[in-house]
Amino acid sequence: MTDHYDVIVIGSGAGGGTLTHALALTGKRILLLERGDFLPREPQNWDSTSVWVDLRYRNPGKWTDSDTGMEFTPKQHYYVGGNTKFYGAILFRFRERDFGSIQHVDGVSPAWPVDYADFEPWYTRAEHLYHVHGQHGADPDDPPTASDYRYPPLSHEPRIAQLETDLTKAGLHPFPLPVGLIYDESAPQFSPCIRCATCDGYPCLVNGKADAHVVCVEPALRYPNVTLRTRTRVTRLETDGTGRTVTRVVADRDGQAEEYSADLVVVSAGAINSAALLLASASDRHPGGLGNSSGVVGRHLMMHNNSSLIAFSKIPNPTKFAKTLGVNDFYSGDGDWPYPLGAMQMLGKSDAVLIGFDAPDAQDPAELARHAMDFWLTTEDLPLPENRVTLGRDGRIRLRYTPTNTEAHQRLIGKFKSLLSTMQCREDVLPGYSYLGGRLGISAVAHQNGTVRFGTDPATSALDLNCKMHELDNLYVVDSSFFCSSTAVNPTLTIIANALRVADHIAGRLGTATARVEVPAHA
Ligand SMILES: Cc1cc2nc3c(=O)[nH]c(=O)nc-3n(C[C@H](O)[C@H](O)[C@H](O)COP(=O)(O)OP(=O)(O)OC[C@H]3O[C@@H](n4cnc5c(N)ncnc54)[C@H](O)[C@@H]3O)c2cc1C
Ligand code: SF4
Repeated sequence: MTDHYDVIVIGSGAGGGTLTHALALTGKRILLLERGDFLPREPQNWDSTSVWVDLRYRNPGKWTDSDTGMEFTPKQHYYVGGNTKFYGAILFRFRERDFGSIQHVDGVSPAWPVDYADFEPWYTRAEHLYHVHGQHGADPDDPPTASDYRYPPLSHEPRIAQLETDLTKAGLHPFPLPVGLIYDESAPQFSPCIRCATCDGYPCLVNGKADAHVVCVEPALRYPNVTLRTRTRVTRLETDGTGRTVTRVVADRDGQAEEYSADLVVVSAGAINSAALLLASASDRHPGGLGNSSGVVGRHLMMHNNSSLIAFSKIPNPTKFAKTLGVNDFYSGDGDWPYPLGAMQMLGKSDAVLIGFDAPDAQDPAELARHAMDFWLTTEDLPLPENRVTLGRDGRIRLRYTPTNTEAHQRLIGKFKSLLSTMQCREDVLPGYSYLGGRLGISAVAHQNGTVRFGTDPATSALDLNCKMHELDNLYVVDSSFFCSSTAVNPTLTIIANALRVADHIAGRLGTATARVEVPAHA
């Protein structure tokens, strides 16, 4: 079967779902191909044993660590909406200086080929589309903005408000985290979100999280020109004889081979799967992988240095929705050391099941959970060419990844520990392995990016500034693989903003304009 469309989008996560939504009102025939299915709505969505211990929704199969030869289950989820079904919805803009080159302890984070100002209009649209609640300027490190958040910051629950007071007294600048929830604090009775304790890392049972499925794919499917085909894994992209045009999208649907074609093809399968698909599409014209004469496809894999740390409040912490506070005072350094350290933010609160998982010897996990305060620390990692995605002989994904800037990350952890007394917490801290899906290591791919970088020079980048492959006329990549550096803030708002930017370009190429009128998430 070969069906022809104006645009085929591969992957329905932050990149592909957003781009599909932006193109829906153009009236062009759009086919969205997604290897996963709709995530089932069921009580287990909010059950920590199902989500963290039984790994009920983890479905990527096995990848291999190239260095050790060991197989592992990556922290990946294949569903309509992609990994945003599970994300914490913390939607940061990159810092303005993140777009320039920055000296780190282990090397230079390279400059992007565009400036923050080039991205700013799309950041605003992204924040509005994904219901981001926040307060620009409360974080002194915030980049400049032309428009305010459409939704006010979420209020802190009392223990987090106390934390804010204590950190402020200590001279720090805590700020309300930018978080994407469909929630109106002045009218909670009309809000899909109920501000529960099972958000970060869980799918939302009541569709209150601003994920790519809820805010983009579902609204886009109301347009007759948009078609979604689930359980359809794209296995190969084939070109015409010139090698310049993708003419066939080959997929596997429930074991049956299918073929599609489109004037334009957009890959957005996640940074690792997109690189793998391009490598799997090697041909006589593209022997090193599709669009990969430069050899960069699959290289410069970044994943962040992340730590999940559980502190224990001296006073009970009955907080339900904890992700309302961040601290960026050490983003660029601590004054004593000339290199950046990174960001701190609250994480979803551990319950007794998670504490039991992280501290199997604990005598009373429930009592520990009553005092738990969870934090997420992120340090930028660098784009090493040898950190890369390759394919084994069997076509399966292999990753090689050596962390960088680990000294900076240890210093950030040291800074965090030095604040425990200020934060009215005990002096001991528990590493939160469950959130990471196991020991911190190669399987922690949640923040993957950088494998098909964009740039102006085809010798050092695979994508041009519009995220079109230099070597092809009709192939784009819009997930986090276009990143040139990982920065130390969460990646997804930048993926969304870029997808909107590329959608504008594609709409222009199709002779139309994208929808500036935002389709509401709920009818
Ligand atoms: C627990 C968790 C918490 C997170 N919290 C945050 C957060 O608070 N803030 C933040 O910014 N980021 C967060 N992230 C990261 C965030 O989810 C990702 O940055 C984001 O989803 C990436 O978007 P993407 O479009 O690049 O890829 P994805 O969202 O992964 O989407 C890729 C899609 O492509 C599909 N696909 C893959 N291969 C194929 C194929 N061959 N054919 C067809 N379809 C394919 C996949 O099924 C998937 O639906 C978190 C991630 C996790 C797992
Ligand atoms: S906090 Fe809101 S968005 Fe998050 S899971 Fe609970 S109801 Fe859903």
